Amino acid sequence: MKIIKRLIPADVQRAIVLLVDLDVLSARHVLLLSALITLAVVTEAFGLFMVLPILQFISSGSDLAKLADQSEIWSKIANVSSLTGFPVTLASLSAVAFILICLRQVCYYGFSVYLARLQERATRRIRIRAFSAALNSRGTYLDSLGTGTFVHFILQLCAAAGTAVGSLSRLGLVILSFIAYGTGLLAVAPKVTLIVVSLILFFGYLVKHFRAAAERTSKQLVAAREALSQFLAERYSVWRLIKLSATEENESELFADNARQVGRLIIVLARMNAMIQLLLNPLAAACMFLGLYFSVEYFGFSVAEITIFILVFLRVLPLVYTVLGGRQQLVSVTVNLSRARLFLDQALAETEPDDGRRIFKGVEKAIVLESVSYNYGEETRPALTKVNLRIPARAITAITGPSGSGKSTLVDLLPRILEPQSGRILVDDTDLKEFKLASLRRGITYVPQTPLLFGSTIGENVRYGNADATNEEFIEACEMAFVDEFVSALPDGYETRVGEGGSTLSGGQRQRIALARAFLAGGSILVLDEPTSALDEESEERIKKAIKLYVERHGAVVIIIAHRLSTIENADQSGRAACRERG
Ligand code: ADP
Ligand code: MG
Repeated sequence: MKIIKRLIPADVQRAIVLLVDLDVLSARHVLLLSALITLAVVTEAFGLFMVLPILQFISSGSDLAKLADQSEIWSKIANVSSLTGFPVTLASLSAVAFILICLRQVCYYGFSVYLARLQERATRRIRIRAFSAALNSRGTYLDSLGTGTFVHFILQLCAAAGTAVGSLSRLGLVILSFIAYGTGLLAVAPKVTLIVVSLILFFGYLVKHFRAAAERTSKQLVAAREALSQFLAERYSVWRLIKLSATEENESELFADNARQVGRLIIVLARMNAMIQLLLNPLAAACMFLGLYFSVEYFGFSVAEITIFILVFLRVLPLVYTVLGGRQQLVSVTVNLSRARLFLDQALAETEPDDGRRIFKGVEKAIVLESVSYNYGEETRPALTKVNLRIPARAITAITGPSGSGKSTLVDLLPRILEPQSGRILVDDTDLKEFKLASLRRGITYVPQTPLLFGSTIGENVRYGNADATNEEFIEACEMAFVDEFVSALPDGYETRVGEGGSTLSGGQRQRIALARAFLAGGSILVLDEPTSALDEESEERIKKAIKLYVERHGAVVIIIAHRLSTIENADQSGRAACRERG
Protein backbone atom coordinates (compact mmCIF):
# COMPACT_ATOMS: atom_id res chain seq x y z
CA MET A 1 0.00 0.00 0.00
CA LYS A 2 2.80 2.37 0.94
CA ILE A 3 4.65 1.60 -2.27
CA ILE A 4 1.55 2.38 -4.34
CA LYS A 5 1.19 5.62 -2.43
CA ARG A 6 4.76 6.59 -3.20
CA LEU A 7 4.39 5.72 -6.86
CA ILE A 8 1.33 7.94 -7.34
CA PRO A 9 2.28 11.63 -7.42
CA ALA A 10 0.89 13.79 -4.62
CA ASP A 11 -1.27 15.99 -6.84
CA VAL A 12 -2.90 12.96 -8.44
CA GLN A 13 -3.58 11.52 -4.99
CA ARG A 14 -5.06 14.80 -3.81
CA ALA A 15 -7.35 15.00 -6.84
CA ILE A 16 -8.55 11.43 -6.28
CA VAL A 17 -9.14 12.02 -2.56
CA LEU A 18 -11.10 15.19 -3.31
CA LEU A 19 -13.26 13.47 -5.90
CA VAL A 20 -13.94 10.58 -3.54
CA ASP A 21 -14.77 12.96 -0.69
CA LEU A 22 -17.09 14.98 -2.86
CA ASP A 23 -18.76 11.73 -3.91
CA VAL A 24 -19.45 12.81 -7.49
CA LEU A 25 -19.00 9.37 -9.10
CA SER A 26 -20.05 5.92 -7.98
CA ALA A 27 -17.83 2.82 -7.98
CA ARG A 28 -19.87 1.55 -10.95
CA HIS A 29 -18.92 4.61 -13.02
CA VAL A 30 -15.23 4.25 -12.19
CA LEU A 31 -15.29 0.52 -13.03
CA LEU A 32 -16.99 1.02 -16.39
CA LEU A 33 -14.66 3.87 -17.28
CA SER A 34 -11.59 1.79 -16.32
CA ALA A 35 -12.89 -1.12 -18.41
CA LEU A 36 -13.29 1.14 -21.46
CA ILE A 37 -9.81 2.61 -20.95
CA THR A 38 -8.27 -0.86 -20.63
CA LEU A 39 -10.04 -2.14 -23.73
CA ALA A 40 -8.98 0.90 -25.76
CA VAL A 41 -5.34 0.54 -24.66
CA VAL A 42 -5.15 -3.24 -25.11
CA THR A 43 -6.68 -3.22 -28.59
CA GLU A 44 -4.43 -0.37 -29.60
CA ALA A 45 -1.26 -2.03 -28.34
CA PHE A 46 -2.15 -5.31 -30.06
CA GLY A 47 -2.99 -3.46 -33.26
CA LEU A 48 0.40 -1.75 -33.25
CA PHE A 49 2.38 -4.87 -32.35
CA MET A 50 0.67 -6.73 -35.23
CA VAL A 51 3.13 -4.87 -37.46
CA LEU A 52 5.90 -7.09 -36.11
CA PRO A 53 4.53 -10.49 -37.30
CA ILE A 54 3.49 -8.90 -40.59
CA LEU A 55 7.03 -7.62 -41.22
CA GLN A 56 8.56 -10.92 -40.09
CA PHE A 57 6.18 -12.79 -42.37
CA ILE A 58 7.18 -10.61 -45.32
CA SER A 59 10.92 -10.87 -44.67
CA SER A 60 10.71 -14.67 -44.33
CA GLY A 61 9.26 -14.84 -47.84
CA SER A 62 5.85 -15.94 -46.47
CA ASP A 63 7.42 -19.18 -45.21
CA LEU A 64 5.39 -20.21 -42.15
CA ALA A 65 7.40 -23.41 -41.50
CA LYS A 66 10.67 -21.47 -41.40
CA LEU A 67 9.23 -18.92 -38.99
CA ALA A 68 7.81 -21.68 -36.73
CA ASP A 69 11.31 -23.17 -36.52
CA GLN A 70 12.81 -19.83 -35.55
CA SER A 71 10.51 -18.64 -32.79
CA GLU A 72 8.13 -20.05 -30.22
CA ILE A 73 5.37 -17.55 -30.93
CA TRP A 74 5.37 -18.43 -34.61
CA SER A 75 5.26 -22.16 -33.83
CA LYS A 76 2.19 -21.47 -31.68
CA ILE A 77 0.63 -19.40 -34.47
CA ALA A 78 1.33 -22.25 -36.89
CA ASN A 79 -0.32 -24.73 -34.46
CA VAL A 80 -3.43 -22.59 -34.07
CA SER A 81 -3.58 -22.17 -37.82
CA SER A 82 -3.42 -25.91 -38.51
CA LEU A 83 -5.98 -26.68 -35.76
CA THR A 84 -8.56 -24.09 -36.83
CA GLY A 85 -7.82 -24.09 -40.52
CA PHE A 86 -7.32 -20.33 -40.36
CA PRO A 87 -4.86 -19.52 -43.17
CA VAL A 88 -1.79 -17.49 -42.22
CA THR A 89 -1.22 -15.15 -45.18
CA LEU A 90 -0.27 -11.53 -45.57
CA ALA A 91 -3.92 -10.76 -46.22
CA SER A 92 -5.24 -12.54 -43.10
CA LEU A 93 -2.57 -11.00 -40.84
CA SER A 94 -3.37 -7.54 -42.23
CA ALA A 95 -7.07 -8.21 -41.71
CA VAL A 96 -6.47 -9.04 -38.04
CA ALA A 97 -4.45 -5.83 -37.61
CA PHE A 98 -7.20 -3.87 -39.36
CA ILE A 99 -9.92 -5.36 -37.15
CA LEU A 100 -7.87 -4.51 -34.04
CA ILE A 101 -7.47 -0.91 -35.22
CA CYS A 102 -11.22 -0.63 -35.82
CA LEU A 103 -11.96 -2.20 -32.42
CA ARG A 104 -9.61 0.27 -30.77
CA GLN A 105 -11.45 3.13 -32.44
CA VAL A 106 -14.82 1.81 -31.26
CA CYS A 107 -13.53 1.44 -27.68
CA TYR A 108 -12.02 4.89 -27.85
CA TYR A 109 -15.31 6.30 -29.07
CA GLY A 110 -17.11 4.65 -26.15
CA PHE A 111 -14.49 5.97 -23.74
CA SER A 112 -14.73 9.55 -25.03
CA VAL A 113 -18.51 9.67 -24.94
CA TYR A 114 -18.76 8.03 -21.53
CA LEU A 115 -16.05 10.29 -20.11
CA ALA A 116 -17.88 13.39 -21.38
CA ARG A 117 -21.05 12.17 -19.66
CA LEU A 118 -19.24 11.49 -16.39
CA GLN A 119 -17.52 14.88 -16.49
CA GLU A 120 -20.81 16.63 -17.11
CA ARG A 121 -22.44 14.64 -14.33
CA ALA A 122 -19.67 15.34 -11.82
CA THR A 123 -19.79 19.09 -12.45
CA ARG A 124 -23.57 19.28 -12.48
CA ARG A 125 -24.01 17.28 -9.29
CA ILE A 126 -21.53 19.29 -7.28
CA ARG A 127 -22.94 22.54 -8.64
CA ILE A 128 -26.47 21.62 -7.61
CA ARG A 129 -25.22 20.61 -4.18
CA ALA A 130 -23.24 23.83 -3.79
CA PHE A 131 -26.16 25.99 -4.89
CA SER A 132 -28.55 24.30 -2.51
CA ALA A 133 -26.05 24.38 0.37
CA ALA A 134 -25.51 28.11 -0.20
CA LEU A 135 -29.25 28.82 -0.31
CA ASN A 136 -29.78 26.87 2.90
CA SER A 137 -26.97 28.61 4.75
CA ARG A 138 -27.36 31.49 7.15
CA GLY A 139 -28.05 34.95 5.76
CA THR A 140 -24.93 36.31 7.44
CA TYR A 141 -22.81 33.75 5.60
CA LEU A 142 -24.49 34.47 2.25
CA ASP A 143 -23.91 38.17 2.79
CA SER A 144 -20.24 37.57 3.55
CA LEU A 145 -19.71 35.67 0.27
CA GLY A 146 -20.52 38.48 -2.15
CA THR A 147 -21.84 38.08 -5.71
CA GLY A 148 -18.46 37.57 -7.37
CA THR A 149 -17.42 34.76 -5.05
CA PHE A 150 -20.84 33.11 -5.13
CA VAL A 151 -20.90 32.95 -8.94
CA HIS A 152 -17.20 32.00 -9.14
CA PHE A 153 -17.72 29.24 -6.59
CA ILE A 154 -20.65 27.63 -8.35
CA LEU A 155 -19.57 28.11 -11.96
CA GLN A 156 -15.77 28.00 -11.96
CA LEU A 157 -14.70 26.14 -8.85
CA CYS A 158 -17.34 23.42 -9.12
CA ALA A 159 -16.47 22.85 -12.81
CA ALA A 160 -13.10 21.60 -11.55
CA ALA A 161 -14.84 18.34 -10.60
CA GLY A 162 -15.53 17.53 -14.26
CA THR A 163 -12.08 18.67 -15.36
CA ALA A 164 -10.45 16.52 -12.66
CA VAL A 165 -12.37 13.45 -13.82
CA GLY A 166 -11.14 14.15 -17.38
CA SER A 167 -7.51 14.76 -16.40
CA LEU A 168 -7.35 11.67 -14.22
CA SER A 169 -8.94 9.45 -16.87
CA ARG A 170 -6.60 10.65 -19.58
CA LEU A 171 -3.63 10.17 -17.24
CA GLY A 172 -4.88 6.67 -16.49
CA LEU A 173 -5.15 5.98 -20.21
CA VAL A 174 -1.60 7.17 -20.83
CA ILE A 175 -0.07 5.27 -17.92
CA LEU A 176 -1.83 2.11 -19.04
CA SER A 177 -0.54 2.69 -22.58
CA PHE A 178 3.01 2.98 -21.24
CA ILE A 179 2.57 -0.28 -19.39
CA ALA A 180 1.09 -2.00 -22.44
CA TYR A 181 3.81 -0.81 -24.83
CA GLY A 182 6.51 -1.42 -22.24
CA THR A 183 5.32 -4.98 -21.74
CA GLY A 184 5.16 -5.53 -25.50
CA LEU A 185 8.68 -4.23 -26.06
CA LEU A 186 9.92 -6.19 -23.08
CA ALA A 187 8.64 -9.36 -24.75
CA VAL A 188 10.33 -8.46 -28.06
CA ALA A 189 13.63 -7.16 -26.66
CA PRO A 190 13.98 -7.15 -22.88
CA LYS A 191 17.49 -5.71 -22.54
CA VAL A 192 17.12 -2.78 -24.93
CA THR A 193 13.75 -1.94 -23.41
CA LEU A 194 15.23 -1.83 -19.93
CA ILE A 195 18.00 0.49 -21.09
CA VAL A 196 15.53 2.82 -22.83
CA VAL A 197 13.09 2.85 -19.89
CA SER A 198 15.90 3.74 -17.47
CA LEU A 199 17.00 6.57 -19.76
CA ILE A 200 13.40 7.85 -19.95
CA LEU A 201 13.01 7.77 -16.16
CA PHE A 202 16.27 9.67 -15.81
CA PHE A 203 15.07 12.36 -18.21
CA GLY A 204 11.73 12.46 -16.40
CA TYR A 205 13.70 13.24 -13.25
CA LEU A 206 15.51 16.05 -15.08
CA VAL A 207 12.29 17.81 -16.15
CA LYS A 208 10.93 17.56 -12.62
CA HIS A 209 12.45 20.90 -11.75
CA PHE A 210 10.64 22.59 -14.61
CA ARG A 211 7.41 20.91 -13.66
CA ALA A 212 7.60 22.19 -10.09
CA ALA A 213 8.07 25.75 -11.35
CA ALA A 214 5.15 25.32 -13.76
CA GLU A 215 3.00 24.09 -10.88
CA ARG A 216 3.72 27.18 -8.83
CA THR A 217 2.77 29.40 -11.77
CA SER A 218 -0.44 27.39 -12.29
CA LYS A 219 -1.43 28.10 -8.70
CA GLN A 220 -0.79 31.82 -9.12
CA LEU A 221 -2.88 31.76 -12.27
CA VAL A 222 -5.83 30.23 -10.41
CA ALA A 223 -5.69 32.99 -7.79
CA ALA A 224 -5.36 35.73 -10.42
CA ARG A 225 -8.37 34.43 -12.34
CA GLU A 226 -10.45 34.36 -9.15
CA ALA A 227 -9.48 37.96 -8.38
CA LEU A 228 -10.48 38.95 -11.91
CA SER A 229 -13.97 37.41 -11.47
CA GLN A 230 -14.46 39.24 -8.20
CA PHE A 231 -13.32 42.50 -9.70
CA LEU A 232 -15.76 42.14 -12.59
CA ALA A 233 -18.78 41.23 -10.46
CA GLU A 234 -18.15 44.12 -8.11
CA ARG A 235 -17.61 46.74 -10.80
CA TYR A 236 -20.74 45.63 -12.62
CA SER A 237 -22.81 45.92 -9.46
CA VAL A 238 -21.70 49.54 -8.98
CA TRP A 239 -21.60 50.67 -12.62
CA ARG A 240 -23.89 53.59 -11.77
CA LEU A 241 -21.48 54.83 -9.12
CA ILE A 242 -18.57 54.54 -11.55
CA LYS A 243 -20.43 56.58 -14.20
CA LEU A 244 -21.54 59.20 -11.72
CA SER A 245 -18.03 59.52 -10.35
CA ALA A 246 -16.65 59.62 -13.92
CA THR A 247 -14.01 57.05 -12.99
CA GLU A 248 -14.44 54.84 -16.09
CA GLU A 249 -10.86 55.44 -17.15
CA ASN A 250 -9.39 54.58 -13.75
CA GLU A 251 -11.52 51.47 -13.53
CA SER A 252 -10.55 50.41 -17.07
CA GLU A 253 -6.93 50.78 -16.11
CA LEU A 254 -7.44 48.77 -12.95
CA PHE A 255 -9.10 46.09 -15.05
CA ALA A 256 -6.24 46.20 -17.56
CA ASP A 257 -3.79 45.70 -14.67
CA ASN A 258 -5.72 42.68 -13.46
CA ALA A 259 -6.03 41.27 -16.97
CA ARG A 260 -2.32 41.87 -17.61
CA GLN A 261 -1.46 39.95 -14.45
CA VAL A 262 -3.46 36.95 -15.72
CA GLY A 263 -1.94 37.34 -19.18
CA ARG A 264 1.60 37.49 -17.82
CA LEU A 265 1.12 34.22 -15.95
CA ILE A 266 -0.38 32.55 -19.03
CA ILE A 267 2.71 33.54 -21.03
CA VAL A 268 5.12 32.38 -18.32
CA LEU A 269 3.32 29.05 -18.21
CA ALA A 270 3.36 28.70 -22.00
CA ARG A 271 7.09 29.47 -22.03
CA MET A 272 7.77 26.82 -19.40
CA ASN A 273 5.81 24.26 -21.38
CA ALA A 274 7.62 25.16 -24.58
CA MET A 275 10.90 24.86 -22.68
CA ILE A 276 10.00 21.38 -21.48
CA GLN A 277 9.26 20.38 -25.08
CA LEU A 278 12.46 22.02 -26.25
CA LEU A 279 14.46 19.83 -23.88
CA LEU A 280 12.36 16.74 -24.11
CA ASN A 281 12.27 16.24 -27.88
CA PRO A 282 16.05 16.11 -28.40
CA LEU A 283 16.42 13.98 -25.25
CA ALA A 284 13.79 11.57 -26.52
CA ALA A 285 15.43 11.43 -29.94
CA ALA A 286 18.77 10.74 -28.24
CA CYS A 287 17.12 7.87 -26.37
CA MET A 288 15.77 6.45 -29.58
CA PHE A 289 19.07 6.63 -31.43
CA LEU A 290 20.97 5.15 -28.49
CA GLY A 291 18.41 2.34 -28.40
CA LEU A 292 18.85 1.81 -32.15
CA TYR A 293 22.61 1.82 -31.83
CA PHE A 294 22.58 -0.80 -29.09
CA SER A 295 20.05 -2.97 -30.90
CA VAL A 296 22.00 -3.01 -34.14
CA GLU A 297 25.59 -3.08 -32.83
CA TYR A 298 25.20 -5.38 -29.83
CA PHE A 299 21.94 -7.30 -30.22
CA GLY A 300 21.72 -7.77 -33.98
CA PHE A 301 18.11 -6.69 -34.34
CA SER A 302 16.20 -7.41 -37.51
CA VAL A 303 14.55 -4.65 -39.54
CA ALA A 304 11.15 -5.84 -38.25
CA GLU A 305 12.21 -5.39 -34.62
CA ILE A 306 13.76 -2.01 -35.28
CA THR A 307 10.61 -0.86 -37.09
CA ILE A 308 8.44 -1.78 -34.13
CA PHE A 309 10.77 0.16 -31.83
CA ILE A 310 10.46 3.27 -33.95
CA LEU A 311 6.70 2.87 -34.21
CA VAL A 312 6.27 2.57 -30.45
CA PHE A 313 8.57 5.52 -29.93
CA LEU A 314 6.55 7.71 -32.28
CA ARG A 315 3.34 6.62 -30.57
CA VAL A 316 4.64 7.13 -27.02
CA LEU A 317 6.25 10.54 -27.46
CA PRO A 318 2.97 12.50 -27.74
CA LEU A 319 1.72 10.57 -24.70
CA VAL A 320 4.60 12.00 -22.68
CA TYR A 321 3.29 15.47 -23.46
CA THR A 322 -0.20 14.38 -22.48
CA VAL A 323 1.19 13.34 -19.09
CA LEU A 324 3.04 16.60 -18.59
CA GLY A 325 0.05 18.70 -19.70
CA GLY A 326 -2.34 16.57 -17.65
CA ARG A 327 -0.22 16.92 -14.52
CA GLN A 328 -0.16 20.66 -14.95
CA GLN A 329 -3.89 20.89 -15.52
CA LEU A 330 -4.31 18.77 -12.41
CA VAL A 331 -2.50 21.40 -10.35
CA SER A 332 -4.98 24.18 -11.10
CA VAL A 333 -7.82 21.68 -10.95
CA THR A 334 -6.90 20.48 -7.47
CA VAL A 335 -6.53 24.05 -6.26
CA ASN A 336 -9.98 24.87 -7.60
CA LEU A 337 -11.47 21.65 -6.38
CA SER A 338 -10.15 22.06 -2.86
CA ARG A 339 -11.52 25.61 -2.83
CA ALA A 340 -14.88 24.30 -4.00
CA ARG A 341 -14.75 21.76 -1.21
CA LEU A 342 -13.85 24.45 1.33
CA PHE A 343 -16.80 26.60 0.25
CA LEU A 344 -19.12 23.63 0.26
CA ASP A 345 -18.00 22.61 3.76
CA GLN A 346 -18.37 26.18 5.00
CA ALA A 347 -21.83 26.53 3.48
CA LEU A 348 -22.87 23.21 5.02
CA ALA A 349 -21.43 24.21 8.41
CA GLU A 350 -23.43 27.43 8.16
CA THR A 351 -26.68 25.62 7.41
CA GLU A 352 -29.58 27.34 9.15
CA PRO A 353 -30.69 25.33 12.15
CA ASP A 354 -34.20 24.01 11.55
CA ASP A 355 -35.04 21.61 14.36
CA GLY A 356 -38.39 23.09 15.34
CA ARG A 357 -41.39 20.78 14.95
CA ARG A 358 -44.37 23.11 15.33
CA ILE A 359 -46.26 24.48 12.38
CA PHE A 360 -46.69 28.23 12.62
CA LYS A 361 -50.38 29.14 12.29
CA GLY A 362 -50.48 32.81 13.21
CA VAL A 363 -50.52 35.12 16.22
CA GLU A 364 -53.38 34.89 18.73
CA LYS A 365 -52.16 37.31 21.39
CA ALA A 366 -48.81 38.89 20.71
CA ILE A 367 -45.21 38.64 19.58
CA VAL A 368 -42.94 39.35 22.51
CA LEU A 369 -39.23 40.21 22.43
CA GLU A 370 -37.52 39.52 25.75
CA SER A 371 -34.22 41.24 26.30
CA VAL A 372 -33.06 40.63 22.72
CA SER A 373 -29.53 41.61 21.69
CA TYR A 374 -27.79 41.38 18.34
CA ASN A 375 -24.27 42.27 17.30
CA TYR A 376 -22.99 41.94 13.71
CA GLY A 377 -19.36 41.61 14.73
CA GLU A 378 -17.05 41.59 17.70
CA GLU A 379 -15.57 45.00 16.94
CA THR A 380 -18.77 46.85 16.09
CA ARG A 381 -21.23 48.35 18.53
CA PRO A 382 -24.24 46.08 19.02
CA ALA A 383 -27.13 46.83 16.63
CA LEU A 384 -29.65 45.83 19.32
CA THR A 385 -29.11 45.75 23.07
CA LYS A 386 -31.61 44.12 25.45
CA VAL A 387 -34.70 45.07 23.50
CA ASN A 388 -38.05 44.36 25.18
CA LEU A 389 -41.09 44.73 22.98
CA ARG A 390 -44.70 43.54 22.75
CA ILE A 391 -46.31 43.49 19.33
CA PRO A 392 -50.06 42.77 19.72
CA ALA A 393 -52.14 40.65 17.33
CA ARG A 394 -54.68 42.19 14.91
CA ALA A 395 -53.05 45.62 15.09
CA ILE A 396 -50.57 47.83 13.34
CA THR A 397 -47.36 48.48 15.24
CA ALA A 398 -45.00 51.14 14.04
CA ILE A 399 -41.30 51.34 14.80
CA THR A 400 -39.41 54.54 14.18
CA GLY A 401 -35.90 55.67 14.88
CA PRO A 402 -32.95 57.27 13.15
CA SER A 403 -31.10 55.42 10.46
CA GLY A 404 -28.67 52.86 11.85
CA SER A 405 -30.68 52.43 15.05
CA GLY A 406 -31.36 48.76 14.37
CA LYS A 407 -34.86 48.73 12.87
CA SER A 408 -34.01 46.47 9.91
CA THR A 409 -32.01 44.23 12.23
CA LEU A 410 -35.02 43.93 14.52
CA VAL A 411 -37.35 42.75 11.76
CA ASP A 412 -34.75 40.35 10.34
CA LEU A 413 -35.00 38.53 13.67
CA LEU A 414 -38.67 37.61 13.17
CA PRO A 415 -38.26 35.29 10.12
CA ARG A 416 -34.97 34.19 11.73
CA ILE A 417 -32.80 35.60 8.94
CA LEU A 418 -30.78 36.63 12.00
CA GLU A 419 -30.78 34.82 15.36
CA PRO A 420 -30.63 36.87 18.57
CA GLN A 421 -27.34 36.35 20.40
CA SER A 422 -29.16 36.65 23.69
CA GLY A 423 -32.77 36.95 24.78
CA ARG A 424 -35.66 35.30 23.00
CA ILE A 425 -38.64 35.99 20.78
CA LEU A 426 -41.99 34.41 21.57
CA VAL A 427 -45.18 34.07 19.60
CA ASP A 428 -48.00 33.40 22.10
CA ASP A 429 -45.47 31.94 24.56
CA THR A 430 -43.81 29.72 21.95
CA ASP A 431 -40.17 30.43 21.14
CA LEU A 432 -39.63 31.10 17.41
CA LYS A 433 -37.06 28.28 17.39
CA GLU A 434 -39.81 25.74 18.04
CA PHE A 435 -41.47 26.41 14.70
CA LYS A 436 -40.46 24.74 11.48
CA LEU A 437 -38.48 27.38 9.64
CA ALA A 438 -40.39 27.13 6.35
CA SER A 439 -43.79 27.36 8.10
CA LEU A 440 -42.66 30.39 10.10
CA ARG A 441 -41.36 32.13 6.99
CA ARG A 442 -44.49 31.36 5.00
CA GLY A 443 -46.47 32.95 7.82
CA ILE A 444 -44.43 36.13 7.69
CA THR A 445 -44.66 38.41 4.71
CA TYR A 446 -41.71 40.70 4.58
CA VAL A 447 -41.30 43.72 2.35
CA PRO A 448 -37.69 44.79 2.69
CA GLN A 449 -36.45 48.34 2.53
CA THR A 450 -35.07 47.85 -0.98
CA PRO A 451 -37.66 45.93 -3.03
CA LEU A 452 -36.27 42.65 -4.31
CA LEU A 453 -37.37 41.88 -7.85
CA PHE A 454 -36.43 39.23 -10.41
CA GLY A 455 -35.66 40.28 -13.95
CA SER A 456 -38.84 38.52 -15.14
CA THR A 457 -42.34 39.89 -15.78
CA ILE A 458 -44.35 42.06 -13.38
CA GLY A 459 -46.96 39.28 -13.06
CA GLU A 460 -44.34 36.67 -12.15
CA ASN A 461 -42.82 39.03 -9.61
CA VAL A 462 -46.16 39.58 -7.89
CA ARG A 463 -46.96 35.87 -7.87
CA TYR A 464 -43.54 34.87 -6.44
CA GLY A 465 -44.14 33.15 -3.13
CA ASN A 466 -47.79 32.31 -3.85
CA ALA A 467 -47.96 30.45 -7.13
CA ASP A 468 -51.39 28.97 -6.25
CA ALA A 469 -53.17 32.33 -6.01
CA THR A 470 -56.27 32.67 -8.18
CA ASN A 471 -56.56 35.32 -10.82
CA GLU A 472 -59.09 37.25 -8.70
CA GLU A 473 -56.71 37.28 -5.73
CA PHE A 474 -53.91 38.42 -8.03
CA ILE A 475 -55.95 41.30 -9.46
CA GLU A 476 -57.11 42.34 -6.00
CA ALA A 477 -53.58 42.42 -4.59
CA CYS A 478 -52.41 44.49 -7.55
CA GLU A 479 -55.30 46.90 -7.04
CA MET A 480 -54.57 47.24 -3.33
CA ALA A 481 -50.97 48.22 -4.09
CA PHE A 482 -51.93 50.37 -7.13
CA VAL A 483 -49.81 48.26 -9.41
CA ASP A 484 -52.71 48.17 -11.90
CA GLU A 485 -52.44 51.93 -12.38
CA PHE A 486 -49.03 51.98 -13.99
CA VAL A 487 -49.32 48.52 -15.50
CA SER A 488 -52.39 49.47 -17.56
CA ALA A 489 -50.27 52.07 -19.33
CA LEU A 490 -47.69 49.46 -20.38
CA PRO A 491 -48.21 47.82 -23.81
CA ASP A 492 -47.50 44.33 -22.43
CA GLY A 493 -49.33 44.89 -19.13
CA TYR A 494 -48.41 42.31 -16.50
CA GLU A 495 -46.29 40.51 -19.09
CA THR A 496 -43.84 43.43 -19.17
CA ARG A 497 -40.31 42.36 -18.28
CA VAL A 498 -38.63 44.55 -15.69
CA GLY A 499 -34.87 44.06 -16.20
CA GLU A 500 -32.43 42.76 -13.58
CA GLY A 501 -33.59 43.79 -10.12
CA GLY A 502 -36.46 45.76 -11.69
CA SER A 503 -34.01 48.18 -13.30
CA THR A 504 -36.56 49.44 -15.87
CA LEU A 505 -38.98 50.61 -13.16
CA SER A 506 -39.02 53.63 -10.88
CA GLY A 507 -38.38 53.20 -7.16
CA GLY A 508 -42.05 53.79 -6.38
CA GLN A 509 -43.18 51.23 -8.99
CA ARG A 510 -40.83 48.63 -7.56
CA GLN A 511 -42.11 49.32 -4.09
CA ARG A 512 -45.71 48.88 -5.24
CA ILE A 513 -44.90 45.53 -6.90
CA ALA A 514 -43.25 44.38 -3.67
CA LEU A 515 -46.35 45.44 -1.73
CA ALA A 516 -48.69 43.64 -4.16
CA ARG A 517 -46.58 40.52 -3.71
CA ALA A 518 -46.89 40.86 0.06
CA PHE A 519 -50.66 41.38 -0.09
CA LEU A 520 -50.99 38.31 -2.32
CA ALA A 521 -48.76 36.16 -0.08
CA GLY A 522 -51.19 36.91 2.74
CA GLY A 523 -48.99 36.02 5.72
CA SER A 524 -50.41 36.46 9.18
CA ILE A 525 -47.48 38.71 10.07
CA LEU A 526 -46.83 41.52 7.63
CA VAL A 527 -43.51 43.32 8.04
CA LEU A 528 -42.99 46.48 6.04
CA ASP A 529 -39.57 48.13 6.17
CA GLU A 530 -40.10 51.73 5.06
CA PRO A 531 -42.83 50.63 2.64
CA THR A 532 -43.72 54.02 1.27
CA SER A 533 -40.35 55.78 1.29
CA ALA A 534 -40.36 56.08 -2.50
CA LEU A 535 -44.05 56.97 -2.88
CA ASP A 536 -45.74 60.32 -3.25
CA GLU A 537 -48.16 61.51 -0.57
CA GLU A 538 -51.29 60.44 -2.43
CA SER A 539 -50.00 56.90 -3.05
CA GLU A 540 -48.86 56.73 0.56
CA GLU A 541 -52.38 57.57 1.74
CA ARG A 542 -53.84 54.84 -0.41
CA ILE A 543 -51.27 52.28 0.71
CA LYS A 544 -52.03 53.08 4.34
CA LYS A 545 -55.70 52.37 3.69
CA ALA A 546 -54.77 49.12 1.94
CA ILE A 547 -52.72 48.05 4.95
CA LYS A 548 -55.64 48.78 7.28
CA LEU A 549 -57.86 46.70 5.00
CA TYR A 550 -55.29 43.88 5.12
CA VAL A 551 -55.35 43.83 8.94
CA GLU A 552 -59.13 43.66 8.98
CA ARG A 553 -59.28 40.86 6.41
CA HIS A 554 -56.45 38.65 7.61
CA GLY A 555 -56.52 39.54 11.30
CA ALA A 556 -52.83 40.07 10.74
CA VAL A 557 -50.07 41.58 12.82
CA VAL A 558 -48.57 44.45 10.87
CA ILE A 559 -45.20 45.91 11.73
CA ILE A 560 -44.28 49.07 9.89
CA ILE A 561 -40.87 50.59 10.04
CA ALA A 562 -40.63 54.23 9.13
CA HIS A 563 -38.70 57.28 9.89
CA ARG A 564 -41.36 59.44 8.29
CA LEU A 565 -44.10 60.03 10.82
CA SER A 566 -46.79 60.35 8.13
CA THR A 567 -46.37 56.65 7.33
CA ILE A 568 -47.43 55.62 10.78
CA GLU A 569 -50.04 58.07 11.90
CA ASN A 570 -52.81 55.45 11.73
CA ALA A 571 -50.79 52.86 13.65
CA ASP A 572 -52.38 51.41 16.77
CA GLN A 573 -49.11 51.51 18.63
CA SER A 574 -45.82 53.12 17.88
CA GLY A 575 -42.48 52.89 19.51
CA ARG A 576 -39.05 54.20 18.87
CA ALA A 577 -36.36 51.75 18.07
CA ALA A 578 -34.26 52.87 20.93
CA CYS A 579 -31.79 50.09 20.67
CA ARG A 580 -28.78 52.30 20.07
CA GLU A 581 -29.75 54.83 22.65
CA ARG A 582 -30.24 52.15 25.24
CA GLY A 583 -27.03 50.37 24.27
P1 ADP B 1 -31.81 50.78 10.49
O1 ADP B 1 -32.62 49.82 9.71
O2 ADP B 1 -32.48 51.23 11.74
O3 ADP B 1 -31.33 51.92 9.68
P2 ADP B 1 -29.95 48.58 10.68
O4 ADP B 1 -30.69 47.57 11.48
O5 ADP B 1 -29.90 48.37 9.21
O6 ADP B 1 -30.50 50.05 11.01
O7 ADP B 1 -28.47 48.67 11.23
C1 ADP B 1 -28.17 48.75 12.60
C2 ADP B 1 -26.64 48.77 12.78
O8 ADP B 1 -26.11 47.53 12.38
C3 ADP B 1 -25.96 49.83 11.93
O9 ADP B 1 -24.95 50.41 12.72
C4 ADP B 1 -25.33 49.07 10.79
O10 ADP B 1 -24.12 49.64 10.43
C5 ADP B 1 -25.13 47.70 11.39
N1 ADP B 1 -25.33 46.68 10.34
C6 ADP B 1 -26.45 46.45 9.63
N2 ADP B 1 -26.31 45.42 8.78
C7 ADP B 1 -25.05 44.97 8.97
C8 ADP B 1 -24.28 43.89 8.41
N3 ADP B 1 -24.77 43.06 7.48
N4 ADP B 1 -23.03 43.72 8.87
C9 ADP B 1 -22.51 44.53 9.80
N5 ADP B 1 -23.18 45.52 10.38
C10 ADP B 1 -24.43 45.76 9.99
MG1 MG C 1 -33.16 49.90 7.73
